[in-house]
Parts: sequence; structure tokens; C-alpha cells
Amino acid sequence: MPEYKGMNLIMPAGDRELRPYFEAAAAGRLVVRRCSACGMLRFPPGPACPWCSSLGSEWAEVSGRGTIYSFEIVAQAIQPGFAEWAPYPVVLVELDEQRGVPTADEALRLITNLVTPDFLPEAEEKVEIGWRVRVLFQPLDAELALPQFTLTDEPPDGNVWRLPS
Ligand code: ZN
Repeated sequence: MPEYKGMNLIMPAGDRELRPYFEAAAAGRLVVRRCSACGMLRFPPGPACPWCSSLGSEWAEVSGRGTIYSFEIVAQAIQPGFAEWAPYPVVLVELDEQRGVPTADEALRLITNLVTPDFLPEAEEKVEIGWRVRVLFQPLDAELALPQFTLTDEPPDGNVWRLPS
């Protein structure tokens, strides 16, 4: 059973809803679900399309590039494995695919850790809305990996913002 920060990750071999996401990550691919009826991408996978309710969908590879749409700084970790990380950022990444679709308020977004290239939490003062990020794949075992995101050196998208300190 793969382990991450002292936690056992229960991922049965027969799980078809989430396991393929982590298997793709082990192969260096970020995937989300694409609705067979309307073509919209979504994450988390879920059984039905949130926009047209169709039950038909397939995995679709995306670029793994995006922009920090929002973030929070976790000051007190609930999971003991994250205690030594606190304070650490959790970011909402808007992927480049499907930006602003179907509305400016809804798009293809993933909640993720923001880490350095060696999978340590990014420094709090470096986290701002608007910065560009890309996916990294942290190996869990021979078959599964965990998608994480890291800052890029691309120029930010629009104005950067953080809560004034
Ligand atoms: Zn749909």
C-alpha cells in the first residue's frame, strides 16, 4: 500500500474513479474527465457531468500548466504528517484548458499543494494569486504518483495579489 507523509493511501486495484488519475501521474500525465456529451472537462472526476448531467465520460490528458486562482495558508495541520510543513500553502490552480468556461466564475480548477521541485512546501511569501504553475509528479510506489504543482518562471497572469500583511 502506498504511503504519503505517514498515511496509508487506500487505492484498490479495482477503483476506476480515482486510481487512473494516480496511475496516469506515475506515467507523467495529468488527466481529468471529459464529458462524452458536451465535451466539458471536469475535476474531481465524479460520476456525472456537473453542466449537462451526462453519465458518459473519458479520461483526457491536459497540459498541467495553469495559474494560481486562489490559495490559503494552513497554519495548523489537521493531518499529523503535515505538522512539520505548517505554515504551508494549498492552492487552487486554474488549468490553461477551459479557462473562463463555462463562466468566469467556473472553470477547470484543482486543489493542490504548492511545492518546490524537490516536493517541499513553497515558502508562504512566494504564494500569490496570478503566478504561473506547472504540475510535478511525486512518485508514491511503482504504479501510482501524486500530482503536485510548483511555481514557474513565466510572467504572472494579470495582477498578482495576496492579502496585505
Ligand atoms: Zn456534459
